Amino acid sequence: MLKLNIQLFAVPFHRVSKTRKRMRRAHNALTANGTVKCPNCGEAIRPHRVCAKCGYYKGKEVVAVSETEEK
Ligand SMILES: [Zn+2]
Repeated sequence: MLKLNIQLFAVPFHRVSKTRKRMRRAHNALTANGTVKCPNCGEAIRPHRVCAKCGYYKGKEVVAVSETEEK
């Protein structure tokens, strides 16, 4: 069986240029995922869940939302 001995060494600070560091980190940005727009009211909701703002799911109102909560 092939055994891989990979050791990672710390790269000295000045061996990586500012440009190279920034180019690498250009792909590190976090994106907000796991949200979709409610087809009824447009609010950002989690997929496959009842909208907390309007109480709709699959085009029907399944949970009654009180008037005080609604804007
Ligand atoms: Zn909604």
